[in-house]
Amino acid sequence: MHLRKRVLVTGGAGFLGSHLCDQLIDEKYDVLCVDNFYTGSKRNVAHLLGNTYFELVRHDITFPLYVEVDEIYNLACPASPIHYQEDPVQTTKVNVHGSINMLGLAKRIKAKILQASTSEVYGDPTVHPQPETYHGNVNCIGPRSCYDEGKRCAETLFFDYYRQHNLKIKVARIFNTYGPRMHLNDGRVISNFIVQALKGKPLTIYGNGNQTRSFCYVDDLIGGLIRLMNTDDDVTGPINLGKPGEFKILELAEKIMDLTNSESEIVFKPMPIDDPMQRKPDITLARKYLEWEPEVALEEGLKKTIAYFEELLRSPLS
Ligand code: NAD
Ligand code: UDP
Ligand code: UDP
Repeated sequence: MHLRKRVLVTGGAGFLGSHLCDQLIDEKYDVLCVDNFYTGSKRNVAHLLGNTYFELVRHDITFPLYVEVDEIYNLACPASPIHYQEDPVQTTKVNVHGSINMLGLAKRIKAKILQASTSEVYGDPTVHPQPETYHGNVNCIGPRSCYDEGKRCAETLFFDYYRQHNLKIKVARIFNTYGPRMHLNDGRVISNFIVQALKGKPLTIYGNGNQTRSFCYVDDLIGGLIRLMNTDDDVTGPINLGKPGEFKILELAEKIMDLTNSESEIVFKPMPIDDPMQRKPDITLARKYLEWEPEVALEEGLKKTIAYFEELLRSPLS
């Protein structure tokens, strides 16, 4: 007999996964965190290790997993371009083989399963902002394809298991999210700029900095994921989760320099292949089905993230 709902979080030792584990523990779930520590770290969940309702297992989800839970959040997958491009075949595998394994698991134990999909399924979008009905503009043979097409195929698998096996699925399309616990060498724009600014090193802008992104603070995003998991069974998504403000990368660099009182200079580097020029979520569906609205303003979220990196850089482990 178990009194608490049992939840599996794959990729639970990563940036988003560890915050999700924290929130689920707070909400009285029994959490099983599975991670192979490819980009995640035991440090992200070390504070949970003594908790009776938390378990950490080292496992690569491209291999089968036999456990018994009520809900599965499937987050396992490197998310930063530099990391997912390091071993692109493994990136496709975690999205395809990994998703098949987690869907097979959900099917056997009749668990509800949520997929952490991404705004990358829209590629370099020609529709702006992006609603869930937009089918995207994705290159299938470029350096980003292992991630973009991997995540698209994962969505296909989720909907085929839903249609073919009546699985209870939820698909969240997550837009750029940031916050404490991002890795020092994560490589994504906010952590790069903050670490560069704090170290007095030049901020590296790829291209001319006119490309845009929308940035969501981690606490808001985690709230959205849990709300989505708790919707009625007929709500499958895909549902966009992100904060609709839109910022040029150059503007972001200036904001971070300002907030860190940095005297770093800005340097311009080549634009990566297939780097999307614009991105902004249409969150009408999330507002309607989840009654969700991200609340943390960029400046407020950046201040918290800067405080985290300042502390990390002071620590002997960094
Ligand atoms: P992250 O790299 O910090 O976390 C990913 C975690 O998955 C890591 O702990 C890593 O070790 C683990 N992992 C990777 N391959 C695995 C495997 N084969 N088996 C088990 N564990 C494995 O990235 P994140 O930002 O926390 O992203 C989490 C999820 O959310 C990813 O699926 C990502 O695609 C998705 N997402 C994130 C963002 C964002 O802005 N943070 C945006 C869109 C989608
Ligand atoms: N699987 C798993 N855990 C389970 C059940 C299945 O990891 O508890 C994996 C298993 O490796 C299988 C995959 O999920 O290959 C897909 O399972 P499904 O039942 O859909 O297909 P099949 O077993 O027919 O390949
Ligand atoms: N970027 C940048 N400098 C960096 C890291 C990223 O100018 O040091 C740019 C990158 O080219 C992209 C944007 O910032 O246009 C967001 O990049 P990130 O890797 O954070 O996420 P994604 O491209 O997946 O949205």
